[in-house]
Amino acid sequence: MSNQTSYDVVVVGAGNAALCAAISACEEGAKVLVLEKGPEHKRGGNSFFTDGAIRVAYHNLKDIRKVVPDLTDEDAAAVVMPDYHEDDYYEDIMRVTKGESQPELAKQLVNRSFETLVWMKGHGVKFELNYENQSYEKDGKRQFWGGLPVKTENKGIGLMEQLFTRAQELGIDIWYEAAAVELMKKEENICGVAVEQDGKRMTVETTGVILACGSLEANKTFRSEQLGDEWEAAIVRGTEYNTGDGISMATAIGAEKFGEYSGCHSIGTDYNAPKVGDFNKPGDIYKKHSYPLSIMLNKDGKRFVDEGADFRNYTYAKYGREILKQPDHVAYQIYDSQVRPLLRKEYDLEEATYYKGESLLELVNQLPVDKQQFLKTIEEYNDAVQGGEYNPTEKDGKKTTGLTPEKTNWALKIENGPFYAYPVTCGITFSFGGLHVNSSGEVLKKDNKPLSGLFAAGEMVGGIFYHNYPGGSGLMSGAVYGKLAGSAAARYVLGNKKDTKITN
Ligand SMILES: Cc1cc2nc3c(=O)[nH]c(=O)nc-3n(C[C@H](O)[C@H](O)[C@H](O)COP(=O)(O)OP(=O)(O)OC[C@H]3O[C@@H](n4cnc5c(N)ncnc54)[C@H](O)[C@@H]3O)c2cc1C
Repeated sequence: MSNQTSYDVVVVGAGNAALCAAISACEEGAKVLVLEKGPEHKRGGNSFFTDGAIRVAYHNLKDIRKVVPDLTDEDAAAVVMPDYHEDDYYEDIMRVTKGESQPELAKQLVNRSFETLVWMKGHGVKFELNYENQSYEKDGKRQFWGGLPVKTENKGIGLMEQLFTRAQELGIDIWYEAAAVELMKKEENICGVAVEQDGKRMTVETTGVILACGSLEANKTFRSEQLGDEWEAAIVRGTEYNTGDGISMATAIGAEKFGEYSGCHSIGTDYNAPKVGDFNKPGDIYKKHSYPLSIMLNKDGKRFVDEGADFRNYTYAKYGREILKQPDHVAYQIYDSQVRPLLRKEYDLEEATYYKGESLLELVNQLPVDKQQFLKTIEEYNDAVQGGEYNPTEKDGKKTTGLTPEKTNWALKIENGPFYAYPVTCGITFSFGGLHVNSSGEVLKKDNKPLSGLFAAGEMVGGIFYHNYPGGSGLMSGAVYGKLAGSAAARYVLGNKKDTKITN
């Protein structure tokens, strides 16, 4: 740690949004300090835990090859990659957020996504094709789907390693176990940040602060206050340090809360996943995303969602909440031996919890559930399955009739043993509520005017995601708004300095 206690720009947090902001501010010539609440071995925030899937608008495979230069002509000839234009991205955001996403913010995210990816690459971030999760084999080619063909090399671990390396190269100071606890204001302008480190409090002088310290998902009290009491029971999939500090600090000096405080991103995760993300086992290994091919039953032996409503990209972020509502916050994904080989890789990991039975009775006898009702529901489901061709690579319309809820795609009878049950509970990823920012990342007050010298990026930006989000938009939003906030903060501070020099 350096002894310097005065910086042009201070960035709070050391995840993707924060480091993009720090690098961008540095590019503009600012002297930058990054404050990270966690120790060095727990740095990188939620961004470290991701699969690195990053949603970007692109016009053709040529665009993608600009950020994935290792793709050979031979590789390129072996893929089919539908274009995903700015309009497609914007429509996806609007569709899953039921039209509530703030157009100005969503457009900024979408329209700047490609240039920001190119910028990240320029700073050493490596991207590759997301073959594993976003493509399937068809007519001898890898067919991509869902507008998400790019991921960072070695998931979030690789992303954060590369950003930290770049930050170090640029001479950005990073203090660990250094929590920002208060924002200082002189008249109407930011003039410093109070930091707690080793039980001591000190003030770092600065006129530009970028809050990129996540939302409130890891704070049990905030979670139950904002989302509802049942959310105390949710598993935190990522870092334990995103406890809403940025929101508290900013609102204490007049910033406006913004976005869907009653909403969050949550998924069905392994029932035995750690209660908070384990930095020794990152990489999103506890999710259980093949549920569209399953039926999910609760402890009472009842189904509660249309598992096959859509591709998992468009339903996974809202079904966690549905699982949380079930008795004891648990559900069982049921598969038979026809479907088991089609499941995603996470089902083969040693961390996966599952039960197996040669017959359905043998399976159900191992589960702490209403066994009679469980078997009855499976039988009723089997009877309700309609004909048609089963095809997991597209919405096949193979459905049930006469059930509540119906299963509207990928309904296959559960009839060939052995049978499998994967217990899942709700894992919260991040909460949607944040601060009100304008399209350059300046934090706004209730009167819609900027709070001079305060900026925000990443999960801290409220108003983009409501109800749900298109997978891969979290990292992209962090990068876009991080880059914007970084350059805006640096220009604000350095402009002010220049002004000061001129006046003096
Ligand atoms: C398991 C998992 C998988 C995911 N997969 C994907 C994916 O593949 N693609 C995608 O787009 N999104 C994914 N997400 C969502 C994604 O992680 C977030 O949207 C994104 O990383 C948020 O970035 P951020 O920089 O805003 O926050 P973070 O990366 O969480 O960084 C916030 C940082 O602030 C620090 N901090 C908090 N309070 C303070 C304080 N008071 N002082 C100093 N520091 C503080 C924290 O320690 C942390 O390092 C996933 C999330 C999880 C948990």
